[in-house]
Amino acid sequence: MTFIQNALAGRVALITGGGSGIGLGIAKAFAGAGGRLVLASRDLDKLEGAVSELRDMGAEALAVRADVRNFEEVEAAVRSALDAFGSLDIVIANAAGNFIVPAAQMSPNAWKVVIDIDLNGTFHCARASYEALKASRFGGRFIAISTTRALEGWPGCAHAGAAKAGIMSLVRTLAGEWGPDGIRCNTIAPGAIGDTEGAKRLYEDRGEASHQLAQIPLGQFGKTDDIAKAAIYLCSEAGDYITGADLVVDGGRERGHSGVGAPKVMARDRGRA
Ligand code: NAP
Repeated sequence: MTFIQNALAGRVALITGGGSGIGLGIAKAFAGAGGRLVLASRDLDKLEGAVSELRDMGAEALAVRADVRNFEEVEAAVRSALDAFGSLDIVIANAAGNFIVPAAQMSPNAWKVVIDIDLNGTFHCARASYEALKASRFGGRFIAISTTRALEGWPGCAHAGAAKAGIMSLVRTLAGEWGPDGIRCNTIAPGAIGDTEGAKRLYEDRGEASHQLAQIPLGQFGKTDDIAKAAIYLCSEAGDYITGADLVVDGGRERGHSGVGAPKVMARDRGRA
């Protein structure tokens, strides 16, 4: 695709949670767009597998073990990127944890764990990468992966919903504070992304898939590649004048669903419902 070819040539990206799901999808698309990659998460074996896939594609890539809850480990991941590639132009704060439990039964520890990974982890990534992003010759990019559920309330996931809403506020603040340094700060809010473990757990395993599908005007679940293309848009020259935005990539689920039967008819007509 012409818009994507070489769109990230010369740029170095750190992606947390880059060994699976949406993070890996972004990593592969960035590799295809000419980017150099640093993948960070807790499971180094998983990351090494992902990195060898990226190298097979011809990309330069590196795996770094880091738990985003630990600021020093995130700082070390940023240093590894600088040591290996000499610069850091893009940070994708994608790592997250989530599990379904109603608020009335949620332990304070469960609440804290999810807030710690999602919200504190995103702040750690931003804070640790600020100087490097400021020095980027392309204009740094900080992208946090949010969710369309962040601002509408998310029954069963109070911890993750609150963390993601906090992330959206944080990123808007960073856009204001870091704009003068040339750093563009945005969130991407995926809807239901079908080819991920998260969507499998949240929807398929609970028999919710067809109900969810019926609420998507475009009549299909998203793909990790849809999120990756949005990330390339924001992180390439195409996104030069975009900061403080929440880019919704959800097939119309959040804002286009009227609550009546039309989307169901569309989905059935296409043989997907
Ligand atoms: P996933 O495959 O489970 O990815 C989560 C990643 O985060 C894993 O690679 C995991 O790697 C990493 N991670 C978890 N805890 C970590 C920690 N403490 N430190 C460092 N890394 C950690 O899930 P996904 O579905 O692709 O989700 C990716 C992002 O998209 C998340 O922010 C999620 O909230 C968001 N999202 C997903 C959907 C969807 O439909 N899937 C919809 C909306 C938003 P390790 O286990 O190796 O640490």
